[in-house]
Amino acid sequence: MRNLRVNLKKLFAIGGAAVVLMTMTGCAKKAECHIPTYHAHKYVNSDGYTRYFDSEYVNYKGYDRLEDYIELTKEDKDLVKYMENNNLLRIDNNEEQIRNAQEKNQPYTEYRYAYTYLVPIPHFIHTGKSTSIYFTFIPATHYSWTADANHSRLTGETRECYYDYTSYKIQKNENGKYTLVECPEHQDIISTKDEYPYIKENYYRVLNRDTNEVVDYEDMETDEKEHIQEEETAEKGTAKRRVLNLLT
Ligand SMILES: [Zn+2]
Repeated sequence: MRNLRVNLKKLFAIGGAAVVLMTMTGCAKKAECHIPTYHAHKYVNSDGYTRYFDSEYVNYKGYDRLEDYIELTKEDKDLVKYMENNNLLRIDNNEEQIRNAQEKNQPYTEYRYAYTYLVPIPHFIHTGKSTSIYFTFIPATHYSWTADANHSRLTGETRECYYDYTSYKIQKNENGKYTLVECPEHQDIISTKDEYPYIKENYYRVLNRDTNEVVDYEDMETDEKEHIQEEETAEKGTAKRRVLNLLT
């Protein structure tokens, strides 16, 4: 009995510390709620998309809790959980956001361009006890795509890009399990919402008009690479040379 009391005390101390920590960091904070029946609260994210979660957390999965709620049956509760696990939002709760996105997501042209950067090649020289290292630089030319028609070093190739939207319906399979079925219509997802009422959080993507595949950027450009002009490459490639002394 004495042991139990000690353990409970310890447990309480740990629990207390955890609560303090959560309050301090502001995460995992729950709202007070006295609704006795099954229900789901409405949540909204910074882009104005709303969805319902069976949760009382003030912030949950990037969404903020609102006071609005819907009552749920036991069956609905399972469905809401399935929606949460599959990252599904209802189209009819987010029509304005979807319309705004569709308005903004106009088809566009991309232009292929070349860019060159210097790849450092290390060389080691061993002289007696010391080793030094120097670099020569080889120019490497790669290609990517830009929406900027005035970009430098365009190759003249173009491609048409457009936005593709995916919506879903939830069906029960023969084992009574929920499954997702994708809507065959990929443009006007609002007009098909009665049959296919759901979208995922990332519900659109950019496709290449010719191939209908997701646009790729060949060699993904990074900011770290220092671009150089074509005419500089020959000069820099051989002239740029740096020597570092390494400790022995
Ligand atoms: Zn509640």
